[in-house]
Amino acid sequence: MTETVGTTHDSAEDSRAALLDALAELVSPELDDLTRELQSRVALSKINYPAMLVDLDGTVLDCNDRVESLGADRATILGRPLWVSSLWGSVDPSAVLGPLVEGATSGRAGARTIDTGEQSQRPVRIEMTPILDEYRQPVMILAELRTLADERETVAIIEATTRALAEAEDIFQAVAEYTSDLVCLHQPDGTFTYVSPSIRRLLDLDPAAIVGTHPVDLSHADTRDALVQALQDAARRGADPTRFRHRMRHRNGSYRWFETALTPIRDSAGVVTQLQSSGRDITEQRETEQSLIKQAFHDELTGLPNKALLIDRVEQAFAVSRRSGEPIAVLFIDLDGFKTINDTLGHQAGDTALSKVAERLSAIVRPGDTLARIGGDEFVMLCAGTDGARGATAVARRILGAFDQPFVLAGHPVALGTSIGIATSMGADNPRLLLDNADTAMYEAKHSGRGRFAIHDEIDQSIALERIDTEEALRRAVDNGELRLHYQPELDLDTGTIVGFEALVRWERPDGRLIPPGEFIPLAEETGIIVEIGKWVIAEACRQAAAWRLFRDPDSEPVRIWVNLSGRQLGDPDLVGFVHRTILEAGITTDEICMEITESALMGDADAAALQLDELRALGISLGIDDFGTGWSQFAYLHRLPLDVLKIDQSFVAGLATDPDSATIVAAIIDLAHALGLIVIAEGVETEEQLMVLKELDCDQALGFFFSKPRSSSHFDEILDLR
Ligand code: C2E
Ligand code: CA
Ligand code: CA
Repeated sequence: MTETVGTTHDSAEDSRAALLDALAELVSPELDDLTRELQSRVALSKINYPAMLVDLDGTVLDCNDRVESLGADRATILGRPLWVSSLWGSVDPSAVLGPLVEGATSGRAGARTIDTGEQSQRPVRIEMTPILDEYRQPVMILAELRTLADERETVAIIEATTRALAEAEDIFQAVAEYTSDLVCLHQPDGTFTYVSPSIRRLLDLDPAAIVGTHPVDLSHADTRDALVQALQDAARRGADPTRFRHRMRHRNGSYRWFETALTPIRDSAGVVTQLQSSGRDITEQRETEQSLIKQAFHDELTGLPNKALLIDRVEQAFAVSRRSGEPIAVLFIDLDGFKTINDTLGHQAGDTALSKVAERLSAIVRPGDTLARIGGDEFVMLCAGTDGARGATAVARRILGAFDQPFVLAGHPVALGTSIGIATSMGADNPRLLLDNADTAMYEAKHSGRGRFAIHDEIDQSIALERIDTEEALRRAVDNGELRLHYQPELDLDTGTIVGFEALVRWERPDGRLIPPGEFIPLAEETGIIVEIGKWVIAEACRQAAAWRLFRDPDSEPVRIWVNLSGRQLGDPDLVGFVHRTILEAGITTDEICMEITESALMGDADAAALQLDELRALGISLGIDDFGTGWSQFAYLHRLPLDVLKIDQSFVAGLATDPDSATIVAAIIDLAHALGLIVIAEGVETEEQLMVLKELDCDQALGFFFSKPRSSSHFDEILDLR
């Protein structure tokens, strides 16, 4: 509607300008008289009213045929002064026309009403428009006449329009006042000039206080650009409303989402004078949309991304990787034996298992990487920046480790395993293939005997082979006698005497390299070789205990050797029997061998582990918790375990003399451990200051480089001899 009016007006405006231009042309000296006359007639004939062309002193140069409707004829009008023409009947219009002509002569347009005595066919109104040349100088005057009848019609039209406008304004007001939407008027720059009362309910704001402010002041920083853009667009565009979504601040500080339509309002000349906006609160709708999006891209049971989102992320990561040249890896993780759980314990337990698996896997996934559940018991991990298969292999090991401990389902400890397929972007030229390759590798892993991983890509096979070589060598290490035990003395802080040793394993390769446990224990744990290695360590520690007996006074307190147990060993049903037999065979007593387990090794299923530990304890073996403070650090479960010793992790000891927080934590651990009847051993003591603080805090025993590094047994023969 606005547009139609605007367009009509624009074209009328344009054609009038064209007319005035055409008339201005008439004074051109290049025109011959005939042409000038013809052009003048053509131009004037386009005017719907009686119209005349007058020169600057008021002489009529030409007129159109419509003057005849006023009862005049061309011949009596042309060439004579405007005010003496027969048009005016008995009225003398010179008083009115003189100033008008004068005005037009100096470049001003003007209009006057002439009292012709209410005769409808008499001209009552005259309008004069100066015709300007290219230097904007008046050269002629266009005089247009309106009769009373014309005038009445115009008045009627104006009245009707005014009424319609008033009604429209009323309707606008009514709509604005009662709508639940936020209806506003703005200056073209956006400043509020009217704000509907609904703003009270929507944003708890006073409409009067908002008038004069700018919407940007209420807008959320995130949507401010959209708002500014919409305001600019609306002022530029036609009559189509500009729609946009943005957030506005509620008085309580929260933000509400609005969908707003912004419509420009133009004046009769087509200039945007104001903007009208109407905004709907779509906060709830948006929340629904968002949750639908979440539903569409997430797995309901675990809340993890689903296959659709995974594919999207893989595609993105793939593209980024192509640009950066840094490979990405995909790990296809499929549970072993999941079907059995569903079949025997029911779907409820199956769902619980999946949720728990998702939890453990989530603990492994690094920020920026994606863990998705893409089907029943299938998960996929997408890793970027992993250095290809080498990094992915490390992740896979951690994943396998996460399944070491059984899951508690329907009150039962249940062992679950997983097979993992690895593929990297180096071996695939599109994202789909990358996923397929990982899937294929997963089947390979399953085939070659579950609970392991396989790598797809050819380039990466070499790394896999390297690993297999290491794995083979590690398997043979026990039989080949390549393992060594080193011992680190533990001192009693009251007496300063050695009360025991921690046995720490090393792997001596045939080339003479001594490999520290950090480099092969994880692989041993992942492959299960740790069970074998652990047995060797126990046997060797027992043998050493028997050997050291020879050096010391038979009446003195026994020297205890602490052996590290890994979580996987606790799952070995032969563990307790083996320990018992070995101790008997070595001819030592059970108080000469002690065992320590890390918190994290107990993490999976404390109940199942507690059973094994109970049996070891029943043999008379002292038990300790290792690296305390790095895992759960919960005293609650310490209660349930048959423990004698708590070893404070070296990271706390390291900060002891410098970091007040460490001292506070260590003090608390010592107090609580003592309250539970545990002996406290501090690990990793490197300085005298640390030792002093520990003594002060009433710590019982300590070990660390300050006293001695771990060394082969022969280093301690003499010391023990002297005891
Ligand atoms: P852990 O049980 O916490 O052993 C203590 C580690 O800290 C040892 O490293 C030891 O050499 C080191 N250490 C001792 N005092 C200090 C000190 O004052 N400063 C510093 N910076 N380090 C100190 P190691 O021998 O390399 O052993 C590393 C880990 O390997 C052990 O940590 C343990 O978790 C594992 N491990 C070693 N032997 C065995 C084993 O026979 N069986 C199992 N399952 N794990 C073992
Ligand atoms: Ca230890
Ligand atoms: Ca430790």
